[in-house]
Amino acid sequence: MLNNLYSIRMRGAEGGPHEHGGRHISGGERLGQKEELQELAKELLDKSLHHSRGDCDFIQIVIEKLMDDEIQRISPLPISSEQAQNVKEGRKIAMSLLASLGISDEAIKNGIEFLKQSTHQRGAIIADSQTGQRLDNRGLKGVRASRMDWSKESWEKWSKSHAPLISPRIREAIALASKVTASPYTVAELCWSDDLEYTTGYVASSSKGYIRIPHLKNNGEDCGGRIFFIKHNISLDDYITYMETTPVCISYEDKADMKGL
Ligand code: AMP
Repeated sequence: MLNNLYSIRMRGAEGGPHEHGGRHISGGERLGQKEELQELAKELLDKSLHHSRGDCDFIQIVIEKLMDDEIQRISPLPISSEQAQNVKEGRKIAMSLLASLGISDEAIKNGIEFLKQSTHQRGAIIADSQTGQRLDNRGLKGVRASRMDWSKESWEKWSKSHAPLISPRIREAIALASKVTASPYTVAELCWSDDLEYTTGYVASSSKGYIRIPHLKNNGEDCGGRIFFIKHNISLDDYITYMETTPVCISYEDKADMKGL
Protein backbone atom coordinates (compact mmCIF):
# COMPACT_ATOMS: atom_id res chain seq x y z
CA MET A 1 0.00 0.00 0.00
CA LEU A 2 1.46 3.32 -0.97
CA ASN A 3 -1.32 5.46 0.50
CA ASN A 4 -0.43 8.09 3.05
CA LEU A 5 3.23 7.29 3.31
CA TYR A 6 5.54 9.43 5.37
CA SER A 7 9.30 9.81 5.11
CA ILE A 8 11.09 9.66 8.46
CA ARG A 9 14.81 10.28 8.66
CA MET A 10 17.36 10.65 11.40
CA ARG A 11 20.84 12.11 11.69
CA GLY A 12 22.97 12.03 14.83
CA ALA A 13 26.31 13.58 15.70
CA GLU A 14 28.72 13.92 18.62
CA GLY A 15 30.06 17.34 19.57
CA GLY A 16 26.99 19.28 18.39
CA PRO A 17 25.08 19.40 15.10
CA HIS A 18 26.93 18.39 11.95
CA GLU A 19 26.76 21.93 10.60
CA HIS A 20 28.54 23.22 13.71
CA GLY A 21 31.36 20.73 13.46
CA GLY A 22 29.80 17.71 15.18
CA ARG A 23 31.17 14.31 14.16
CA HIS A 24 28.69 12.19 12.21
CA ILE A 25 27.69 9.08 14.14
CA SER A 26 24.52 7.68 12.63
CA GLY A 27 21.78 8.25 10.05
CA GLY A 28 18.69 6.42 8.88
CA GLU A 29 15.94 6.61 6.29
CA ARG A 30 12.56 4.93 6.52
CA LEU A 31 9.08 5.21 5.00
CA GLY A 32 5.91 4.28 6.85
CA GLN A 33 2.22 4.79 7.37
CA LYS A 34 1.02 7.30 9.94
CA GLU A 35 0.30 4.62 12.54
CA GLU A 36 3.86 3.22 12.16
CA LEU A 37 5.64 6.50 12.80
CA GLN A 38 6.02 6.17 16.57
CA GLU A 39 7.61 2.74 16.22
CA LEU A 40 9.86 3.93 13.37
CA ALA A 41 10.95 6.98 15.38
CA LYS A 42 11.82 4.68 18.28
CA GLU A 43 13.86 2.39 16.00
CA LEU A 44 15.77 5.34 14.57
CA LEU A 45 16.33 6.82 18.03
CA ASP A 46 17.63 3.46 19.31
CA LYS A 47 19.96 3.29 16.32
CA SER A 48 21.41 6.72 17.07
CA LEU A 49 21.76 6.11 20.81
CA HIS A 50 23.52 2.73 20.57
CA HIS A 51 26.26 3.15 18.01
CA SER A 52 29.81 1.84 18.05
CA ARG A 53 31.13 5.08 16.53
CA GLY A 54 30.24 7.23 19.53
CA ASP A 55 27.69 8.87 21.77
CA CYS A 56 25.33 11.23 19.90
CA ASP A 57 24.61 14.51 21.67
CA PHE A 58 22.71 15.88 18.68
CA ILE A 59 19.89 13.84 17.13
CA GLN A 60 17.42 15.15 14.59
CA ILE A 61 14.38 13.26 13.34
CA VAL A 62 12.40 14.76 10.46
CA ILE A 63 9.00 13.47 9.35
CA GLU A 64 7.29 14.53 6.12
CA LYS A 65 4.12 13.34 4.46
CA LEU A 66 4.68 12.24 0.86
CA MET A 67 2.40 12.81 -2.11
CA ASP A 68 1.23 9.47 -3.52
CA ASP A 69 1.97 10.47 -7.10
CA GLU A 70 5.61 11.36 -6.39
CA ILE A 71 6.51 7.90 -5.04
CA GLN A 72 8.47 5.65 -7.42
CA ARG A 73 8.23 1.89 -7.00
CA ILE A 74 11.29 -0.14 -7.88
CA SER A 75 12.50 -3.72 -7.33
CA PRO A 76 15.33 -4.51 -4.91
CA LEU A 77 18.64 -5.33 -6.53
CA PRO A 78 19.37 -9.07 -6.60
CA ILE A 79 21.98 -9.95 -4.00
CA SER A 80 25.03 -12.22 -4.26
CA SER A 81 28.26 -12.70 -2.32
CA GLU A 82 31.94 -12.92 -3.18
CA GLN A 83 34.54 -14.73 -1.05
CA ALA A 84 37.73 -13.10 0.23
CA GLN A 85 40.14 -14.05 3.02
CA ASN A 86 41.64 -10.64 3.76
CA VAL A 87 41.55 -6.93 2.85
CA LYS A 88 43.93 -7.34 -0.07
CA GLU A 89 41.67 -9.95 -1.67
CA GLY A 90 38.46 -8.06 -0.83
CA ARG A 91 39.64 -4.83 -2.40
CA LYS A 92 41.01 -6.67 -5.43
CA ILE A 93 37.54 -8.15 -6.04
CA ALA A 94 35.88 -4.75 -5.60
CA MET A 95 38.34 -3.14 -8.01
CA SER A 96 37.90 -5.77 -10.68
CA LEU A 97 34.09 -5.57 -10.41
CA LEU A 98 34.21 -1.79 -10.78
CA ALA A 99 36.54 -2.10 -13.76
CA SER A 100 34.20 -4.65 -15.38
CA LEU A 101 31.43 -2.05 -15.12
CA GLY A 102 33.47 0.42 -17.16
CA ILE A 103 34.89 2.59 -14.36
CA SER A 104 38.39 3.85 -15.13
CA ASP A 105 41.44 2.72 -13.15
CA GLU A 106 41.99 6.30 -12.02
CA ALA A 107 38.43 6.61 -10.70
CA ILE A 108 38.67 3.26 -8.89
CA LYS A 109 42.00 4.20 -7.30
CA ASN A 110 40.64 7.60 -6.16
CA GLY A 111 37.49 5.98 -4.78
CA ILE A 112 39.36 3.40 -2.69
CA GLU A 113 41.81 6.04 -1.44
CA PHE A 114 38.92 8.28 -0.48
CA LEU A 115 37.19 5.59 1.58
CA LYS A 116 40.50 4.64 3.24
CA GLN A 117 40.86 8.12 4.72
CA SER A 118 37.16 8.98 5.24
CA THR A 119 36.08 8.84 8.89
CA HIS A 120 33.57 11.69 9.26
CA GLN A 121 31.65 11.64 5.99
CA ARG A 122 27.88 11.94 6.42
CA GLY A 123 26.77 11.35 2.83
CA ALA A 124 28.20 9.81 -0.31
CA ILE A 125 30.72 11.45 -2.57
CA ILE A 126 29.86 11.62 -6.24
CA ALA A 127 32.71 10.78 -8.59
CA ASP A 128 33.01 10.89 -12.37
CA SER A 129 33.40 7.27 -13.47
CA GLN A 130 35.89 8.27 -16.19
CA THR A 131 38.06 11.04 -14.73
CA GLY A 132 37.74 9.97 -11.10
CA GLN A 133 37.15 13.59 -10.14
CA ARG A 134 34.92 14.32 -7.16
CA LEU A 135 31.95 16.24 -8.56
CA ASP A 136 29.86 17.26 -5.57
CA ASN A 137 31.04 20.26 -3.68
CA ARG A 138 29.67 19.20 -0.36
CA GLY A 139 32.68 18.39 1.82
CA LEU A 140 31.84 16.15 4.77
CA LYS A 141 28.12 16.52 4.16
CA GLY A 142 28.33 14.71 0.84
CA VAL A 143 25.08 13.67 -0.81
CA ARG A 144 22.61 11.59 1.15
CA ALA A 145 20.27 9.29 -0.71
CA SER A 146 17.04 9.90 1.14
CA ARG A 147 13.33 9.01 1.28
CA MET A 148 13.63 5.34 0.41
CA ASP A 149 12.58 2.14 2.14
CA TRP A 150 10.95 -1.22 1.53
CA SER A 151 7.20 -1.53 1.67
CA LYS A 152 6.34 -3.51 4.78
CA GLU A 153 4.94 -6.48 2.82
CA SER A 154 7.90 -6.56 0.44
CA TRP A 155 10.44 -6.66 3.26
CA GLU A 156 8.51 -9.49 4.92
CA LYS A 157 8.43 -11.48 1.66
CA TRP A 158 12.11 -10.81 0.91
CA SER A 159 13.09 -11.78 4.45
CA LYS A 160 11.42 -15.16 4.10
CA SER A 161 13.36 -16.04 0.95
CA HIS A 162 16.69 -14.59 2.16
CA ALA A 163 16.63 -15.67 5.81
CA PRO A 164 20.41 -16.02 6.40
CA LEU A 165 20.98 -12.43 5.29
CA ILE A 166 18.37 -10.43 7.09
CA SER A 167 19.41 -7.59 9.36
CA PRO A 168 18.50 -3.93 9.67
CA ARG A 169 21.84 -3.12 8.02
CA ILE A 170 21.09 -5.22 4.92
CA ARG A 171 17.56 -3.85 4.79
CA GLU A 172 18.83 -0.27 4.67
CA ALA A 173 21.78 -0.96 2.38
CA ILE A 174 19.71 -2.75 -0.28
CA ALA A 175 17.05 -0.03 -0.23
CA LEU A 176 19.76 2.61 -0.63
CA ALA A 177 21.72 0.78 -3.34
CA SER A 178 18.51 -0.03 -5.24
CA LYS A 179 17.54 3.65 -5.29
CA VAL A 180 21.05 4.76 -6.24
CA THR A 181 21.43 2.29 -9.10
CA ALA A 182 17.88 2.91 -10.38
CA SER A 183 19.16 6.24 -11.67
CA PRO A 184 20.23 5.79 -15.31
CA TYR A 185 23.21 8.06 -14.51
CA THR A 186 24.73 5.80 -11.87
CA VAL A 187 27.41 3.43 -13.14
CA ALA A 188 28.05 1.78 -9.75
CA GLU A 189 28.17 2.34 -6.03
CA LEU A 190 31.06 1.27 -3.79
CA CYS A 191 30.47 1.07 -0.04
CA TRP A 192 32.07 -0.11 3.11
CA SER A 193 30.83 0.99 6.50
CA ASP A 194 32.70 3.33 8.79
CA ASP A 195 31.45 1.30 11.77
CA LEU A 196 34.48 -0.16 13.52
CA GLU A 197 33.33 -3.77 13.62
CA TYR A 198 31.65 -4.10 10.21
CA THR A 199 34.10 -4.99 7.46
CA THR A 200 31.85 -6.37 4.69
CA GLY A 201 31.04 -3.90 1.93
CA TYR A 202 29.52 -4.05 -1.52
CA VAL A 203 29.62 -3.00 -5.14
CA ALA A 204 26.16 -2.30 -6.57
CA SER A 205 25.06 -1.71 -10.14
CA SER A 206 21.89 -2.14 -12.15
CA SER A 207 23.52 -4.78 -14.38
CA LYS A 208 25.22 -6.97 -11.72
CA GLY A 209 23.08 -6.30 -8.66
CA TYR A 210 24.23 -5.94 -5.06
CA ILE A 211 27.47 -7.88 -4.58
CA ARG A 212 28.63 -8.32 -0.99
CA ILE A 213 32.39 -8.45 -0.49
CA PRO A 214 33.95 -9.44 2.85
CA HIS A 215 37.04 -7.73 4.28
CA LEU A 216 36.92 -4.37 2.54
CA LYS A 217 38.71 -3.01 5.62
CA ASN A 218 40.32 -4.35 8.79
CA ASN A 219 38.31 -4.88 11.94
CA GLY A 220 38.58 -1.87 14.30
CA GLU A 221 39.13 0.75 11.58
CA ASP A 222 36.70 3.68 11.49
CA CYS A 223 37.18 4.59 7.82
CA GLY A 224 34.44 4.04 5.24
CA GLY A 225 31.63 5.61 3.28
CA ARG A 226 29.98 5.51 -0.11
CA ILE A 227 31.02 6.54 -3.60
CA PHE A 228 28.45 6.98 -6.35
CA PHE A 229 30.31 6.65 -9.67
CA ILE A 230 28.32 8.45 -12.34
CA LYS A 231 28.40 8.82 -16.09
CA HIS A 232 30.50 11.55 -17.62
CA ASN A 233 28.86 14.92 -18.40
CA ILE A 234 25.45 14.55 -16.81
CA SER A 235 23.38 17.15 -14.97
CA LEU A 236 24.73 16.95 -11.43
CA ASP A 237 21.91 19.07 -10.01
CA ASP A 238 19.24 16.72 -11.38
CA TYR A 239 21.16 13.70 -10.09
CA ILE A 240 21.46 15.15 -6.58
CA THR A 241 17.80 16.21 -6.56
CA TYR A 242 16.77 12.63 -7.38
CA MET A 243 19.00 11.21 -4.64
CA GLU A 244 17.87 13.63 -1.97
CA THR A 245 14.21 14.15 -2.71
CA THR A 246 12.53 11.52 -4.90
CA PRO A 247 10.66 9.06 -2.66
CA VAL A 248 11.35 5.46 -3.65
CA CYS A 249 9.49 2.46 -2.31
CA ILE A 250 11.10 -0.97 -2.76
CA SER A 251 8.55 -3.54 -3.94
CA TYR A 252 9.40 -7.21 -4.08
CA GLU A 253 7.67 -10.13 -5.75
CA ASP A 254 9.08 -13.46 -4.66
CA LYS A 255 11.37 -14.82 -7.39
CA ALA A 256 14.45 -17.06 -7.27
CA ASP A 257 16.94 -14.21 -7.30
CA MET A 258 19.54 -15.56 -4.86
CA LYS A 259 22.75 -16.20 -6.71
CA GLY A 260 25.79 -17.88 -5.23
CA LEU A 261 25.10 -17.03 -1.59
P1 AMP B 1 26.60 2.80 7.11
O1 AMP B 1 26.44 1.83 6.01
O2 AMP B 1 25.30 3.23 7.73
O3 AMP B 1 27.62 2.37 8.11
O4 AMP B 1 27.15 4.13 6.44
C1 AMP B 1 28.49 4.24 6.04
C2 AMP B 1 28.72 5.58 5.41
O5 AMP B 1 27.99 5.65 4.19
C3 AMP B 1 28.24 6.79 6.23
O6 AMP B 1 29.17 7.23 7.17
C4 AMP B 1 28.05 7.81 5.13
O7 AMP B 1 29.28 8.36 4.75
C5 AMP B 1 27.51 6.96 4.00
N1 AMP B 1 26.04 6.93 4.00
C6 AMP B 1 25.22 6.38 4.93
N2 AMP B 1 23.93 6.55 4.62
C7 AMP B 1 23.92 7.23 3.45
C8 AMP B 1 22.89 7.72 2.61
N3 AMP B 1 21.60 7.56 2.92
N4 AMP B 1 23.24 8.34 1.47
C9 AMP B 1 24.54 8.51 1.15
N5 AMP B 1 25.56 8.09 1.91
C10 AMP B 1 25.27 7.46 3.05
